[in-house]
Amino acid sequence: MEKKILNNYGSFDVVFTKGKGSTLWDVNGKKYIDFLSGIGVNCLGHNYKPLVKAISDQAKRQIHISNYYLSDIGLVFADELLAITGFEKGYFGNSGAEANEAAIKLARKYGQLNGGAKRKTIITLENSFHGRTLATLTATGQEKFHVDSFAPYPEGFKTIRANNYDDIKTAFDDTTAALFIECIQGEGGVNLVDADWAKAAAKAARDAGAIVMADEVQTGIGRTGTFLASDFLGFEPEVVTLAKGIAGGVPMGACLFRGKAANVFVAGDHQSTFAGNPLACAAGCVVAETVSDLNFLDRVNRTGEYIRKTIKDWNIPFVKEVRGRGLMIGTQIDSSINPADIKVRCLEEGLCVTTAGSDVVRFLPPLNISDKEVNEGLSIFHKVLQEFSAK
Ligand SMILES: *Cc1c(COP(=O)(O)O)cnc(C)c1O
Repeated sequence: MEKKILNNYGSFDVVFTKGKGSTLWDVNGKKYIDFLSGIGVNCLGHNYKPLVKAISDQAKRQIHISNYYLSDIGLVFADELLAITGFEKGYFGNSGAEANEAAIKLARKYGQLNGGAKRKTIITLENSFHGRTLATLTATGQEKFHVDSFAPYPEGFKTIRANNYDDIKTAFDDTTAALFIECIQGEGGVNLVDADWAKAAAKAARDAGAIVMADEVQTGIGRTGTFLASDFLGFEPEVVTLAKGIAGGVPMGACLFRGKAANVFVAGDHQSTFAGNPLACAAGCVVAETVSDLNFLDRVNRTGEYIRKTIKDWNIPFVKEVRGRGLMIGTQIDSSINPADIKVRCLEEGLCVTTAGSDVVRFLPPLNISDKEVNEGLSIFHKVLQEFSAK
């Protein structure tokens, strides 16, 4: 098969045709265990019957209606999402970057209404990732993303170090519109943000008159074993952004607001043609109902703990740390080995994984992955790690 679309991702020469549960097959009929789920998107795996049914039933009713009107399924999904998360209002978009753009615009408007033109700065964390649009790239706290070819970048962004108490003493003032926290840094290396620090940082930001926002594009929708990661971190953001797993594979994003942020946006402030697309909302309803179930979340936690413990117990000499929460898992390795080489060998052996930061192999399996698939995937990972040990 000739590749004619932009190969922006250094993609592998594997062409997938279908999946079931957490298993994928390529054009040659070769089987793979999916520890990636399309970067945490296919949170209910592949060909999950209730999801397929909801999407096909919705396709027969209406696929798109525009935001001039309301759709019944859009209203149902909004109500469900707000009831589960405890937020008051929301905006639907189509991706994580777009959800974050909405949050950034909201923060800027909040700042202007509560301090005037000078209160515009958005503070994010070093090593964070917030998306690929110009504003979200600028918000991203990793210099390697701020390449000259896309300059100039928008103004009004600053970073502080996660888990650093000195930084929060001086970071916030009457120019700060918002503190924007990526709850567990996915792209940056599966780096955990400490709950006490997050609460202290949020308090310092609020004391300075800013709002607090959480980027849960990767950590939200059950990924970390609670419906939102900010639920366990406890810093109670006024704004949260969601995407990736929100509609089980159908493109969608959302930005939810409450408290001081609830009434900042008025009609006309922010829109998007595809936003609240009924097909995506129908899928989102199935995901929200399934993932918010406490037994489901409990299993996400237990499966994640099992995976982390299993890898630790192998005692592979070059594995420095196995960390994460729920089914967002990072295996940190020492600098003698490039995690991308492990990723490639895993794929050859039939296991989809990705990397994070400069030294982490990242797993984001479907949240409903079976025990059998977990063990099959782990045995491939073990074999590959042992192979690198022997080198
Ligand atoms: C993936 C991701 C984004 C960007 O989402 P897109 O849907 O690719 O635009 C933003 N923030 C975080 C934390 C992410 O993991």
